[in-house]
Amino acid sequence: EPPSEKYEYQAEVSRLMDLIVHSLYSNKEVFLRELVSNASDALDKLRFLSVTEPGLLKDAVDLDIRIQTDKDNGIITITDSGIGMTRQELVDCLGTIAQSGTAKFFKALKDSKDAGVDSNLIGQFGVGFYSAFLVSDKVVVSTKSPKSDKQYVWEGEANANSYTVREETDPEKFIPRGTRLTLYLKRDDKGFAHPERIQNLVKNYSQFVSFPIYTWQEKGFTKEVEVDDDPSEAKKDGDEDATVEKKKKTKKVIERYWDWELTNETQPIWLRNPKDVTTEEYNEFFKKTFNEYLDPLASSHFTTEGEVEFRSILFVPAVKKDDIASMNKTKNIRLYVKRVFISDDFDGELFPRYLSFVKGVVDSNDLPLNVSREILQESRIVRIMRKRLVRKAFDMILGISLSENREDYEKFWENFGKNLKLGCIEDQANHKRIAPLLRFFSSQSEEELISLDEYVENMKPEQKDIYYIAADSLTSAKNAPFLERLLEKDFEVLFLVDPMDEIAIQNLKSYKEKNFVDISKEDLDLGDKNEEKEKEIKQEFGHMCDWIKKRLGNKVASVQVSSRLSRSPCVLVSGKFGWSANMERLMKAQTM
Ligand code: ADP
Ligand code: MG
Repeated sequence: EPPSEKYEYQAEVSRLMDLIVHSLYSNKEVFLRELVSNASDALDKLRFLSVTEPGLLKDAVDLDIRIQTDKDNGIITITDSGIGMTRQELVDCLGTIAQSGTAKFFKALKDSKDAGVDSNLIGQFGVGFYSAFLVSDKVVVSTKSPKSDKQYVWEGEANANSYTVREETDPEKFIPRGTRLTLYLKRDDKGFAHPERIQNLVKNYSQFVSFPIYTWQEKGFTKEVEVDDDPSEAKKDGDEDATVEKKKKTKKVIERYWDWELTNETQPIWLRNPKDVTTEEYNEFFKKTFNEYLDPLASSHFTTEGEVEFRSILFVPAVKKDDIASMNKTKNIRLYVKRVFISDDFDGELFPRYLSFVKGVVDSNDLPLNVSREILQESRIVRIMRKRLVRKAFDMILGISLSENREDYEKFWENFGKNLKLGCIEDQANHKRIAPLLRFFSSQSEEELISLDEYVENMKPEQKDIYYIAADSLTSAKNAPFLERLLEKDFEVLFLVDPMDEIAIQNLKSYKEKNFVDISKEDLDLGDKNEEKEKEIKQEFGHMCDWIKKRLGNKVASVQVSSRLSRSPCVLVSGKFGWSANMERLMKAQTM
């Protein structure tokens, strides 16, 4: 028998295992979610690779996951027929944490001071393979990669800093392809090895895994068996005829046996008819698929036909992922081709950057299975898909804004308002869709944000333009002398107090054919000019202006008489073509 080799874990791994065990003790059952999701990933990888290498599927084994429990001995085995691991992969994957999910969790825990992290938040992180040690004293991974003709066994124990790898030599344990995990449960956790317990956990955690998950269940059926009426009496009689005459009686007994039972729903939710899917199902799907812990604000399930055919479900999350989770940044859109999972790394091709908060699945029938980023970037089909997806995303956001529950949109705006403003800058083609979604404070609404539609409705009959002032705070906007005349006329003025507001508005230029006008710029025309009178005044104060300009020198471009103030004696304004004072502040802040 080839010797087994001993390896030390990378130092980080030992610490990670400690952390997992200490922070998740009250959420132990996540181990099953993690191990099933690894099995599902392994099946996805195999299916994906087999598109270009059909040879990988030469062992005609179904793509599925099987979980068996031995409650007397406290053992769970999880077997998948996925891609498996070579000897080198075993060492690379299960001895280090270069891997995605686990590393993220590790960092998040390190970042957060208290190790007890909110148990809801835990759901956001893949905690990975090592979560097996939450419930196990010993874990054995036996795995066969189609790239290797040998099967290898990884063996590790809780609280150890090393593990072993050896070749599998017992033919009884051979598997044609894939991975079998055997968990030897800790004394207190043997309860997990009950078939019903596992069944419930699978139903709860893994209902959206797209491969069948079978659990080993005890079954029974009743059957009627014949019983002799009373054999003892018949014998006593010694009467042969009586035996023949004897009435046959039957009795119901329960026959017990064990068998695999399909435990999850494998029809992907996006292939179902939207009419048959409940909001709860969408919400669950969203939370399970994207590791979210709150219901989404909105979802949209649709099919497009004709030129390009695809199905999709999109979601707007209720919260923005903060720093910890923004390591998850991409992975918002899961792309499938003909139900085969391709990648969750192509968001950039399917959505513009500013809409990257939208999450969802997209399943196309028109793309090749071996699709790559390069293909996506070139593809006319993808251009059409992108257009439709963006449109649907906007419909969904508009839906939130029209909802009777005003709070929903407030929440949306607080989380993703900046994204829409970025959209004003980056996506000219969708200005018409973005503009109605913007929100601002104004001189007549300092507490509640208003939409541009609300502004336009509130415009005075003689008012031509949409007025705004950009400032660094509501207070300074409110106290700006530029406001005086407009307030007198009862014209509403938008207060652009977010640094991005002004740039967004300048990119829009107009809304419903009304121009945006900065009231702090020179030449503000309120439509009430009295040319005669202005001429007179200009003449009267001409000398005074010259004098002031001389005194101020290069500090100002010019000094002019103006009709725009009512109470303040003078005001500093920006040149018509120059930056506004606010922009100047921004630019300064950026170059410093
Ligand atoms: P993650 O899934 O985030 O990569 P895990 O700790 O869950 O992190 O898994 C680590 C790695 O181990 C996986 O990326 C994969 O390469 C490998 N692995 C784990 N389970 C399996 C399995 N059942 N089949 C094949 N590879 C696996
Ligand atoms: Mg994993």
